[in-house]
Amino acid sequence: MQFAANDLADYWMPFTGNRDFKAEPRLVVRSEGMYLWDHKGGKILDGSSALFNVALGHGRREIAEAVYQQLQLNDYIAPFQLGHPGAFELARLVAAILPEGIDHIFFVNSGSEAIDSALKIIMAYNHARGEGGRIRFVSRERAYHGVNIGGTSLSGMVRNRDVFPLTMPYVVTMRHTWLPENRFTKGQPERGAELAEDLQRIVDTYGAKTIAACFIEPVAGSTGCLVPPLGYLERIREICDRNGILLVFDEVITGFGRLGAPFAAHRFNVKPDIITMAKALTNGAQPMGAVVVKREIYDAIVNAAPDNAIEFFHGYTYSAHPAACAAGIATQRIFAAERVFEKAAALSDYFLDRIFELRDLEVITDIRGIGMMAAIDVKPKGAPGAHGTALQKKLFWNGLHVKFTADAGIIALPLVAERRHVDELVDLLRATLKDAA
Ligand code: PLP
Repeated sequence: MQFAANDLADYWMPFTGNRDFKAEPRLVVRSEGMYLWDHKGGKILDGSSALFNVALGHGRREIAEAVYQQLQLNDYIAPFQLGHPGAFELARLVAAILPEGIDHIFFVNSGSEAIDSALKIIMAYNHARGEGGRIRFVSRERAYHGVNIGGTSLSGMVRNRDVFPLTMPYVVTMRHTWLPENRFTKGQPERGAELAEDLQRIVDTYGAKTIAACFIEPVAGSTGCLVPPLGYLERIREICDRNGILLVFDEVITGFGRLGAPFAAHRFNVKPDIITMAKALTNGAQPMGAVVVKREIYDAIVNAAPDNAIEFFHGYTYSAHPAACAAGIATQRIFAAERVFEKAAALSDYFLDRIFELRDLEVITDIRGIGMMAAIDVKPKGAPGAHGTALQKKLFWNGLHVKFTADAGIIALPLVAERRHVDELVDLLRATLKDAA
């Protein structure tokens, strides 16, 4: 399949070097199971579950059929003042795998919308409980919380904010948890729990009663699988508890088995007050996200409103879209029927051991990983990120898709992978990176 440059002109691609891409396009024309096929016929192993969302592999028939049937039966209904059964069923299925008590689910269409919706839920909750003075939000360096204005305001990634100077005020940033002395640690590093005290310092500086919530990716995903040091999340939880601060886990990547447990909250045994999710909720087959809150938050907002009044002035035309709910229900059923989270847990040691074998490559400066997620840092060459982008392209043409953010390659095979896929992934990485230093 050949494309003239003009064929590609009209589509403005997101988070992509458009001129560069259009000069040498990488189009995926088919996907099935663990593989993608490009427009020249090349077969590519999907080493990042597309964008960490296609946990069950591509082209799952059960999901496609559920969406098709739903669209024929009831394609769309207005989600305000009307409902459809799928939304309630999906909410029940997701609530059943969440930590006890975190079970009221507000559906949205993406992770970014989940973050912005969470911010508004928190404001409404604090208003309802008479704590409207809590106007500050805490985030972290190297955080990624999507790209809407709320998520951009919480972002800890300079390129995602430096030309967008008008973000939300009153966001305070903690340090990230990557420490050079923890390089090449498999699982949770032993050093660094004290970085949680940044939150205490923020409390000491601004006053607890001005702080609404602390947003944390339990494992920072987009900046390269930053695994929390042992004890770190527990300390964050304690500081939140002492000071009436809500703890939000942004589990857009870590949710639905990526760490070998349903959610990171289970894996680390730390219970947040709110969980945001998206991606594998529908296996990527339909756009969908969600904010899940503990019962008290729902009750406070809902009970604060007068009878017959709308309690929360927020929602989207496509909130709980029937097709997305159908995809979500089919996905959740497969997770349960195939015991996918347990499978991910069982493959994790093999996956991490094999990825860590790559540490002898000169180009690799760090490897991190937990569950079925890992990252390799490559030596920068030229501008930050230039080497990562070049390697992502090279890997693609050599038959492997790995998503790079700057100079970190983020590896997240579909959770249904087998050992032979891990072997293929490691072989492709070694073959491509061995001369890259
Ligand atoms: N939050 C986290 C932790 C993410 O990793 C992402 C996307 O990668 C988002 C939010 C934004 O999700 P979306 O791209 O669906 O808007």
